[in-house]
Amino acid sequence: MAELLHNWITERAERRPDSVALVLDQNKITYGELDALSNRLAGMLKETGCERGDRVAFLIPKSPAAIVAILGILKADCIYVPLDPSGPASRLKKILQSCETGRILAAGPVVSLLDELLSDNELRSSIEIGWMDHEAVQGENFKPTFSLADLSAFSRRPLAYSNTRFDPAHILFTSGSTGAPKGVVINHSSVIEFVEWATRYFQMSCSDRISGQTPLHFDLSTFDIFGTFAAGAELHLVPQELNLLPNKLAGFIRQSQLTQWFSVPSILNYMAKFDVVGFGDFPSLKRLLWCGEVFPTPSLIYWMKRLPHVRFTNLYGPTETTIASSYYTVPACPEDERAAIPIGTACHGEELLVLDEKLRPVPRGQVGDLYIRGVGLSPGYWKDPEKTRAAFLPNPRSLDPAERIYKTGDLAKIESDGLVYFVGRADSQIKSRGYRIELGEIEAALGSMNLLQECAVVALAINGFEGNKICCGYVPLPGSEVAPTTLRKELSKLLPAYMLPSGWLALERLPRNGNGKVDRSKLGEEFKNNGTASP
Ligand code: AMP
Repeated sequence: MAELLHNWITERAERRPDSVALVLDQNKITYGELDALSNRLAGMLKETGCERGDRVAFLIPKSPAAIVAILGILKADCIYVPLDPSGPASRLKKILQSCETGRILAAGPVVSLLDELLSDNELRSSIEIGWMDHEAVQGENFKPTFSLADLSAFSRRPLAYSNTRFDPAHILFTSGSTGAPKGVVINHSSVIEFVEWATRYFQMSCSDRISGQTPLHFDLSTFDIFGTFAAGAELHLVPQELNLLPNKLAGFIRQSQLTQWFSVPSILNYMAKFDVVGFGDFPSLKRLLWCGEVFPTPSLIYWMKRLPHVRFTNLYGPTETTIASSYYTVPACPEDERAAIPIGTACHGEELLVLDEKLRPVPRGQVGDLYIRGVGLSPGYWKDPEKTRAAFLPNPRSLDPAERIYKTGDLAKIESDGLVYFVGRADSQIKSRGYRIELGEIEAALGSMNLLQECAVVALAINGFEGNKICCGYVPLPGSEVAPTTLRKELSKLLPAYMLPSGWLALERLPRNGNGKVDRSKLGEEFKNNGTASP
């Protein structure tokens, strides 16, 4: 078993340096090149003061430079923090401040975002920029310390590593219900355990051509990257702009002759909706995997009917337990569009527990809270012991006081077939287009704008690509009027586009229940009855 995530790349580079590791458009990078370049970057990071355990962020659209950054950061014994290049500066600032990073590796069209970010005096004085392209670009508020061209002065040979498998590899920030994004810390060992299991289970090999569809700030991308490298396969990075062009996306799978596709179901739904998949299409494709949300059975039937040569697997799991914790390979195309597809059984080294409020197992067929234990568990949220204690509980059935179970917030049941079924959420976390969103984060951002007396955000399930429509009911400040377009514009300075409500309703007061709490189901009803204003 690999000790550290980057060991796979070095091993492959030693054995087959000329085989292709990464493909983006016309660019191909071999294992040898990727290993050498990331060794040089690690040398530069160390030379310029990065120490073991330092958090190094990167702000790079999905590209070979971003993969080099990930590997270089890991090889410098540091922790990588992916930043969303489309995210608003104010949210990225919260992430940078939370993980106290002194360095951002950047490349691509991010200069104005970096300038906005570093217009903050405190950040400007504490953060250095490394430019991951040959020609360094200078911003108004930053001058890079180095560019890719400077790396040639560093050795292409591997460095000596001090990290062990139980050290953090990355921190992934997800939506936080109180307004600040939460940093989930993931150790090398957790990713290695999943990848070792998955490469075995899916029989991945060096002849595989694997999709890199998921954005790099999502944990699913770590399987794309490290699953590929563990198998010695080719990672085909899917250009971000294709995601909204289903025809082109299908063309990409065809032309790249992908053997494995992995994405959130929203993308697959979208392709089904536009009917871009032919019968017997994608002849090279062997496996289609999804994770992150429910894949509606009608869409699954669409895909399975068209691609009878492909194996379809549902993977389930939250970021906090690393990529996925359970799996279910669908044995045959479901006949009934209403059939529920189970999330299945635990991956190797994991256990799924369905418990009642006293942490006792619930009888088969009954709905309970879903907890996960095992090798994928994160050590917790970055510098947030309170949230960590609330979500990672001591395992009541273990004699080992250090053993923990993670409360997913999902509701589930174990049916008589012994398989686990996802039932829904116990809280106000939702998925929209595959993105994990706490409605509380949207409400907190709206509250901080001082434009409203009060507001509440609900999600309405819709049949379509988005899966959920985010709707905001609001009461303007007394004597004032505020248009949804204004609210949306102001909110876009605080939140990424996927978190912005698309339904708005101005109200005299929010509906409340008997004990004075906002009645969210009634608010949802009002949206359904009144229609919604969509700016
Ligand atoms: P994330 O941390 O973004 O991976 O989101 C984790 C949440 O996504 C889980 O707690 C579930 O609510 C949902 N989820 C993940 N995988 C699945 C799946 N296969 N089916 C249904 N919901 C899922």
